[in-house]
Amino acid sequence: MCLKRLAFLPLMVEGQVVRGFGRGSKELGIPTANFTDEVVKKLPLEMENGVYFGLASVDAGAVDRMVLSVGWNPQFHNQLKTMETHILRDFSRDFYGSTLRVAVLGYIRPMTSFTSLDELIAAIKDDIRKANDELDKPEYAKYCSQDFFTRPLDSAAKENLPSKEGISDISNNSQEFRS
Ligand code: ADP
Ligand code: MG
Repeated sequence: MCLKRLAFLPLMVEGQVVRGFGRGSKELGIPTANFTDEVVKKLPLEMENGVYFGLASVDAGAVDRMVLSVGWNPQFHNQLKTMETHILRDFSRDFYGSTLRVAVLGYIRPMTSFTSLDELIAAIKDDIRKANDELDKPEYAKYCSQDFFTRPLDSAAKENLPSKEGISDISNNSQEFRS
């Protein structure tokens, strides 16, 4: 399989997990951790809406695989963009307020509207299969041990205070944007 390569990837994003819109993702067995608006606003302009794959960690813990969607929220008349990460691990708990780090490594597909819930679930399962196929490739192994994931959290983040949030594009020599 060959997925589209995009110049702005890999893209490193760090920020706090906030409540989403309760669209029932958890009930479908596909919880999605939402980033704050501040983080979403800083995404590169060329980052199209769609489904991406990569790696993620919560509070500087283990690095897991993830699938992520970037899209406009219909409940806000498509004015509000969201970035939602489904980590491929069973946490059996919520982690709102935690620091989420994601390395967006590749693009899977554009956003689509589905006519049934079954169709949506099948598409997400297919996304996960594609993400796993890609992430099995040795070229992605190096990202797990990158400083972005291994560096400790700053103390503000640990106490759930407003913390350093930002985006870095390591393909461009670690440009970092901080709020
Ligand atoms: P919300 O609408 O608030 O985003 P969701 O139903 O999408 O609610 O659930 C997301 C929340 O579930 C995350 O913010 C996180 O606290 C928790 N969660 C538990 N396991 C996972 C996981 N594997 N991936 C993402 N979020 C998870
Ligand atoms: Mg969510």
